[in-house]
Amino acid sequence: MSTIEQAAERREDPGYTVGLDIGGTKILGALLDTSGAVVATTRLATELGPDGVVRSAARAVRELADPATVGGVGLGIPGIIDVAAGTVRHAVNLGIADELPLADRLSAALDGVPVVVENDLNVAAVGAAHVLEREAMSDDAAREHEDLAFLALGTGVASGLVMDGRLRRGVTGAAGEIGHVPIDPAGPECPCGQRGCIETFVSGTALAQAWPARHGKPAPVELFEAAASGDAEALRVRARFADAVAAAVRLLVLTVDVHYVVLGGGVAQLGEPLLDVVREALREQAKVSGFLASLELPGRVRLAPSDIPVAAVGAAVLGRRDEEAEAGGAASSSDTASSSGRTASSETDMRADDRGGALTWRS
Ligand SMILES: [Zn+2]
Repeated sequence: MSTIEQAAERREDPGYTVGLDIGGTKILGALLDTSGAVVATTRLATELGPDGVVRSAARAVRELADPATVGGVGLGIPGIIDVAAGTVRHAVNLGIADELPLADRLSAALDGVPVVVENDLNVAAVGAAHVLEREAMSDDAAREHEDLAFLALGTGVASGLVMDGRLRRGVTGAAGEIGHVPIDPAGPECPCGQRGCIETFVSGTALAQAWPARHGKPAPVELFEAAASGDAEALRVRARFADAVAAAVRLLVLTVDVHYVVLGGGVAQLGEPLLDVVREALREQAKVSGFLASLELPGRVRLAPSDIPVAAVGAAVLGRRDEEAEAGGAASSSDTASSSGRTASSETDMRADDRGGALTWRS
C-alpha cells in the first residue's frame, strides 16, 4: 500500500485520540472516540526530569488505550513550547531546563503514534470550546462556543483565546497574557516589574497574601466563607478580587469581543459563589455606562466544567487535528494548490498554522 493510500485509510478511521495535561505533580489524561466523546480518563503522578516526563506520559497513554488503536496524541504542558518542532524548554516545575524534543521522544515510546505539543493554557481553551460545544443543543449555539477566552485564575493569571473557531497564539505566543495588564497605578508591585497588574489582585498567590488561610483550607475558600458570614474585612478583600476579575473579563470582551469568558484554574474551583460575585461586579460596573451594559457581560461569563479534565480534552482535540493535517498533507500530491511548491520550512509553518485552525470536530 502506498503512503497516500495509507494516509487516506487512516483519515477514514483515525481511531481513538489521547490528550494529556502534564502538570508538575500529576498528569490528567482523556481518551476521545471518533465522535469526539470522552470515553475514559486517567490520572497519575508526574515523574520529573526529561526522561521521567516522557516515561510517565507514555504510561498515561497506555493506561487509556493500546497505542495501535490511537490515531494521535496531544500534550498540554507549561513552559516555552515550539509547536512546529514539538519541543518544550524552561518547564521549571517539570524539571525540564534545556530544549526537550518531547513530541519525537514520546512518539518513539509509543511505536510511532503522532504527537503534538501545545502550551497548557491553549489546550484548556480548546478543551473548554469542545466541551461547551458538545453540551450545546443547536448548531448556532455550537458555533458560539467556538469563540471564547479561557481565563485561568491560578498561581498566575492568563487567558487562552479561541476566536472564530481558531486558536490565537499571537506572533510571539503571548496572546492573552492579560495578568500583566496594570489596572491600578497605585497597586502592589508585580514581579514583572510593573505596578497594579491584574495578577496582583486576582491570582491564587495574591489571594493567599490578602487573606492567609487559618483553618487549613485553600485561602480562596476561607476568604469566601468569611465573607459569606459577614466579616467586613473579608467582604472588602473579596470585592477587590471580584472587581479585578471583572476588569479582566471586560478587557477580554472589549479587545476581542469573544462570545464567552470561561473561568478556570485553581481559584475557579470556588464554583458558583465565584460566578455570583464576578457577575455582580460586572453589573455594578455597567451601572454607570450604557455602553458596558449593552455588552451584557454578566451573561457571557461561565465556569469551566469541573467534572471533565478540559485541558486534557483540548490536548486530544489538537492531537487529532494534527493527524488530519498530516493525512491531508500526505494526500495532497493530487491537489495542485497544496504542498508540492512549498519549501520545507513553509510546509512546517503551514502545519503549525493548521493546528490552530478551525476546531470543529469532524467524525
Ligand atoms: Zn505584572
